[in-house]
Amino acid sequence: MENPLHGLPAPPALGAAALPPGTYAGQVVLVTGGGTGLGKAIAAEFARLGADVVIASRRAEQLKAAREELAAVPGAGRVSAAVCDIRDPERVAEVFDAAQAAFGLPDVLVNNAAANFPSPAEDLSPNAWRAVVDITLTGTWFMTREFGRRHLTAGTPGSIVNIGASYAWTGGPGFAHSSAAKAGVKNLVETLAVEWGPYGIQINGLVPGLVPHADMTEDIRDGLERAAPDAKDARQPALRVGAPRELGWAATFLASPYARFITGHTLVVDGANWQRRSVVNPEVVPVRTQLGRGPFAS
Ligand code: NAP
Repeated sequence: MENPLHGLPAPPALGAAALPPGTYAGQVVLVTGGGTGLGKAIAAEFARLGADVVIASRRAEQLKAAREELAAVPGAGRVSAAVCDIRDPERVAEVFDAAQAAFGLPDVLVNNAAANFPSPAEDLSPNAWRAVVDITLTGTWFMTREFGRRHLTAGTPGSIVNIGASYAWTGGPGFAHSSAAKAGVKNLVETLAVEWGPYGIQINGLVPGLVPHADMTEDIRDGLERAAPDAKDARQPALRVGAPRELGWAATFLASPYARFITGHTLVVDGANWQRRSVVNPEVVPVRTQLGRGPFAS
């Protein structure tokens, strides 16, 4: 008998788009962390729909390469890159000044930049905790604040998409710092949708499932290899991992004119992986063991 387990179908090929060509023509879209991984894939889908795109992160080399890649996307508008550490509110303001001078005030902000590495909670140093929370939550807030204040001043509408993680709801064993920060990011979506809705500012969250890409950090890649050496697909209810473009399509929808009444919502694009429960509970393996760490030593 043929295997009845097919999983969820593969998505359309890269280059396809659900929205009409030119949906974002004349619009400016600012993507943090847009030089790598999912941020770059999201920026590419906005570019494909005609947006002028600004990517911002810390490493100039990555940004330069990504800028060239994005400019070559068929249908792309203009592309610029800004070196910026989103933890620095003054630099954040400068990036908005530069974007505004070059293309106009960004109509869409995608808060994608984040930092992460696995660690048992008890091993986290104050600096490790601060680094992740400052980038993922506080940096997201600095970008969001700047975007909101400028639109309130100008009296113009805008749309924000915060990239999250499903452990914002469930907690994330092995990722106490990142899951606490992402819970804050999701909570900001809910608060600001109400506070800024009257001014025409929409804000939503978008949560990727497991979406491997070439730019994943070594820590995260090692963790994935340890968990599922040759079977990442088989460990997902969809029987496949996500493709970066699937996040790009979701982000371009959420910020589009077709989603104007959707705000304060966080959309999970993960093939239902975060809903998994087993009929029989799997054996509990402490995080230290899962990460191959020895006994805790203070
Ligand atoms: P990634 O490749 O590690 O990208 C992180 C990006 O953030 C990089 O471009 C990095 O660029 C930028 N960044 C880090 N610190 C920054 C700072 N202080 N200021 C400005 N930019 C900074 O991660 P990814 O896998 O593409 O993930 C993108 C988003 O999806 C993240 O929010 C992540 O939490 C979320 N997510 C991903 C997955 C997945 O499976 N990939 C799953 C769940 C959630 P620089 O180093 O140059 O600054």
